[in-house]
Amino acid sequence: MKHERSQSTENAKQQPSPKRVKDSNGKSVHQGKDDMLKHPTTQRAKEIDADTPMQQLEELLEKTRKDQKTTRNVLHWFRSKDIREDDNRGLHAAAEKAKEGSGSLITMYLFSPKDMEWHGTSAPRSDFILESLRKLKSSLQEKNIPLAIVTAEERGQKTDRVMQFVKDHDVSHVYANIEYEVDELRRDIKVAKHVQDQEGLSFDALHDQTVVKPGTVVTGSGGPMKVFTPYHKAWLAETKDDPSLLDLVPAPKGNDKDALKQFKDLFDSEIPSLPESKQFEGKEDQERIRKLWPAGHDAGIKRVHEFLDRKIGTYAQDRSMPALDPSSRLSPYFSSGIISVREALAITKKWNNNEHFDQGDAGVAAWVREIVFREFYRQVTVITPHTTMNLPQNLKFDNVEWEDDEEGWEKWCKGTTGVPFVDAGMRQLNSEAYMHNRLRMNTSSYLSGNLLLDYRRGERYFAEHLIDWDMSNNTQGWEPSYTIFNPVAQAEKCDPDGDFIRKWVPELKDVKGKAVFSPHERLSKAEFEKLDYPAPHVDYRESAQRAKERYKHDLANADP
Ligand SMILES: Cc1cc2nc3c(=O)[nH]c(=O)nc-3n(C[C@H](O)[C@H](O)[C@H](O)COP(=O)(O)OP(=O)(O)OC[C@H]3O[C@@H](n4cnc5c(N)ncnc54)[C@H](O)[C@@H]3O)c2cc1C
Repeated sequence: MKHERSQSTENAKQQPSPKRVKDSNGKSVHQGKDDMLKHPTTQRAKEIDADTPMQQLEELLEKTRKDQKTTRNVLHWFRSKDIREDDNRGLHAAAEKAKEGSGSLITMYLFSPKDMEWHGTSAPRSDFILESLRKLKSSLQEKNIPLAIVTAEERGQKTDRVMQFVKDHDVSHVYANIEYEVDELRRDIKVAKHVQDQEGLSFDALHDQTVVKPGTVVTGSGGPMKVFTPYHKAWLAETKDDPSLLDLVPAPKGNDKDALKQFKDLFDSEIPSLPESKQFEGKEDQERIRKLWPAGHDAGIKRVHEFLDRKIGTYAQDRSMPALDPSSRLSPYFSSGIISVREALAITKKWNNNEHFDQGDAGVAAWVREIVFREFYRQVTVITPHTTMNLPQNLKFDNVEWEDDEEGWEKWCKGTTGVPFVDAGMRQLNSEAYMHNRLRMNTSSYLSGNLLLDYRRGERYFAEHLIDWDMSNNTQGWEPSYTIFNPVAQAEKCDPDGDFIRKWVPELKDVKGKAVFSPHERLSKAEFEKLDYPAPHVDYRESAQRAKERYKHDLANADP
């Protein structure tokens, strides 16, 4: 697959083949030619956290959510995180509002090819989004609801394009679902500022991505929770006390047939094809990925049922065993909002004989715990927005002096580090646009903790290759820390028969027994040389020790 790379404005993610430059803190950092590592100072990060874009948007929405006398056409603005009709809070609110007036419900998707490049969205994810939009458009069309594609060629044109569309189509109410990342919140703030002084125009953005609203799970002293275990407990209690949190909203009923004529231009607007920079290497590659990850809501729901029928029962014990492919593979559907987490949980609850998620089947409890991680990471994004701006949550880690090891970087990307478990994970990613969670943990730990390469480069590489890229899950999965996995012990524990390694690293398919976990150490020189598999790029024990010492030294000197 061919891939583009990049990320956010005040923030930004990184490019391969970077050079060393001074950052805004005067520190030597890697930087790609497109400024992918750009980020605010740690001081600025704290200011952003103190007055978050989410708070700013919520204040503005108080003014833009207007009680208007007349309802004309009502718009739902789809984003890349709510591409569905079912259980879509914003779309449902728009449909209800449209019923109050004599206008129609219309919908729009703002297509920004430069955003796809800036965010480094992978070709598989870009294609998955466009295919899912295509399916959504034809399903809405059957209900006489248009889905228009509005294109902003330049990132700076987004607000103007939306406001022009609103004007051209006599819209009185705009609805959307909130995206929690800084750039997206700032885009909505801009829109809200345009709307607040306009007569006859209202704008509302709803919480839709999670069961529990991010930022609202608080500690005894009233501040938002920042630690997972108590958050998980509180989440379970809250959803038990208030089951309505899991209520679903219906898909819209649709417009009269007249809408077909009135909005012909919108019905005619076509879903764009993949931008030049997001092409697959070939048709076969694209078809293979589409087969692995079929687009659209129905495919997502089918996957929920298959997971419940076949895998959830053993999920609690098998979830860290990648060779068993034990998990739901629903992440792309959740990250693009093809299905709502509430809908998946409602089906799961029914399967669990309507018991709450911590009761009944142990697999359900374990699986829902992962969903709660997703909710928790959104809470973290909302309360510490600097985490979406190329800065670690623990700002002290921004002071780490990372290595320049381009050979190590190349080997990590290709899956030729000489560490079988790490290489297997990277090869799965490069092939399937997906990696099992245990491998994500190990490959990320290896990049920063053994190769001592800037974790942001890896974070960016994941964004550029994953079909399920999700800013909150990815940045927080990549959060640097003192925990460095031993990739051989991890393989022995999580891939005890070596099946996952043998599948993805065919050079090792005939290696017998435990030698598969560390062939260079465990085979004779002659046996190893026959394999055509590289020797380890670094010694994992020594390199982990070196990284810990570096962290200790650089963090002691950090004053963020
Ligand atoms: C370094 C790193 C990077 C990651 N990047 C992403 C990413 O870009 N996008 C992404 O969706 N997940 C990411 N994760 C989390 C996790 O690896 C994936 O969500 C999971 O592997 C997806 O497979 P699944 O749908 O079969 O998961 P299941 O085990 O079936 O879990 C169900 C759902 O729960 C959520 N979930 C599961 N594990 C986690 C987790 N550790 N953190 C947060 N949510 C979780 C996902 O939405 C997932 O679809 C990352 C983890 C790490 C360690």
